[in-house]
Amino acid sequence: MKGLRLRSRLFVEVVNLSKAEVSLEHLFKVFTKPENDDSTLAKIERHLSDNVSDFLSRHVVAQKTSLEEIEKDYMDPLIPEAPDFVSSHAEVLLKKLVSQSVNTYSPTFIGHMTSSLPYFHLPLAKLLVGLNQNLVKIETSKAFTPLERQTLGMMHNLIFEQNDDFYGQYLHSAKHSLGAFCSGGTIANITSLWVARNKLLGPKGRFAGVARTGLASAYRQLNISNLGIMASKRGHYSLGKAIDVLGIGRDNMLTINGDNHTLNPSQALKVGQEYQKRGNKLLAIVGIAGTTETGHVDPLDELADVAKELECWFHVDAAWGGATLFSDKYKHILKGIEKADSVTIDAHKQMYVPMGAGMALFKNPHDANSVRHHAQYILRQGSKDLGSTTLEGSRNGMALTVYSSLHILGKGGYELLINKSIELAKRFAQMIDESEHFELITAPVLSLLTYRVRPANLAKSNQFSDESYRTLNTEIDSLTVSVQKQQREAGKSFVSRTRIEAQQYNDQPITVFRVVLANPLTTEEDLKGILQEQLEIAQSHKLWQSLSQKYNAKIA
Ligand SMILES: *Cc1c(COP(=O)(O)O)cnc(C)c1O
Repeated sequence: MKGLRLRSRLFVEVVNLSKAEVSLEHLFKVFTKPENDDSTLAKIERHLSDNVSDFLSRHVVAQKTSLEEIEKDYMDPLIPEAPDFVSSHAEVLLKKLVSQSVNTYSPTFIGHMTSSLPYFHLPLAKLLVGLNQNLVKIETSKAFTPLERQTLGMMHNLIFEQNDDFYGQYLHSAKHSLGAFCSGGTIANITSLWVARNKLLGPKGRFAGVARTGLASAYRQLNISNLGIMASKRGHYSLGKAIDVLGIGRDNMLTINGDNHTLNPSQALKVGQEYQKRGNKLLAIVGIAGTTETGHVDPLDELADVAKELECWFHVDAAWGGATLFSDKYKHILKGIEKADSVTIDAHKQMYVPMGAGMALFKNPHDANSVRHHAQYILRQGSKDLGSTTLEGSRNGMALTVYSSLHILGKGGYELLINKSIELAKRFAQMIDESEHFELITAPVLSLLTYRVRPANLAKSNQFSDESYRTLNTEIDSLTVSVQKQQREAGKSFVSRTRIEAQQYNDQPITVFRVVLANPLTTEEDLKGILQEQLEIAQSHKLWQSLSQKYNAKIA
């Protein structure tokens, strides 16, 4: 075997070692920070801190490499036998990984909920990794535990607005919990419904509770055939995962359609009553505050009343829209959220913190006790270990990113960001409406909207029958798909696409562009440019001509 040279700057110079000579002593050096670090990794890091978006835009946009091509760099299933230089490994990362990454910081990347972050998260991320605290138990996190509890308290306060006595009593209580910090909205939804399930099926008389006995005997105890969960059709797919892992079963997801595909309260009441009459129990109604596809908000206030009437849990999935509460101007859209038993908020969406920051907030500080878990060596009775009521085990201190953002941006700062996003979305909707070549499909309630391309004359063709629309829509779908793909491949901007049932076409499913206006740096000019580019792509497509001719013929 060739001599092995561990000569990275981080590794400190260790030249010409054979494999057999690689000792732990040499490896220890990777765990110690070298002085005057001038390695490639350090350079990348400095460059990143200097200006993230500049760094990304210079290295990322318009790298037209196919996924198959990239996969070729990741084919080897063998773990390398020998250690590598940190510096040469960093070169590989720069060349193969960084250069092929997606520039989510770009102002023209408006297709997803992932966008640019304030620069201060880079040093914070370094701090988190540097300290490597584990929030599962006090012994490995000390000050981070109270910080996380305070952060949850601030978010609880934003939603439920309890008084000082309340927070004085519960914020740091070992026997209570205002919420659970977790990696994202999916886990927050699962946690919320887990708490709801265990509370409903908790210990009673001689029944030890579902956590001990499992669902089968809990159902016998309650004398029911099934538990159910109700949400609109636009509920996030994580709800399906939640009722799957909770053993409730996806067939017991009751979906209802209302105006703009929100959950209609009187329908909800009717369906819920009928479901329960058939010998089932409705576990929870889930109201969505900002659906992932269109940003619509369910009528939360009325749904809270329906839940009360049906005596079930009321959960609000505000993973996306929760941050609207920072805005005094727009928080009325979420009216009724304060009546929820539990609320999901993703800080890594509209609160502009890095991914891995979700929260489930509980109105009643006692409720999380229904899932409290103890173990001997950690999570002891009476301890303040956060791990005793969280689904996840080991977790880093991501709450720091939320804590710092809340201080650095403040409620006022967040309000400005939220207002800007919503108002830019409204302006974009207006631009689409004013153009004869585009059709707005769902108007923005928050900062999401959907639209599609459309040869001009279709605008005047509302006398078409459902059937003619079906044919036309199929063709416009193909055009929309092509435009989205070509725009993505050109690499200047990114708009996502989805398929939704369009109210204006009697709920026919159509393909639409989906836009999420979350990046504060996106301007009206950027949006004009995106529409212009889409139009140019569309007009050079053969379908454009044939569609225009067809409409002319029909209207004539
Ligand atoms: C994003 C989102 C989720 C899932 O959150 P993750 O952080 O991706 O796990 C759930 N519900 C809604 C409404 C969302 O927008």
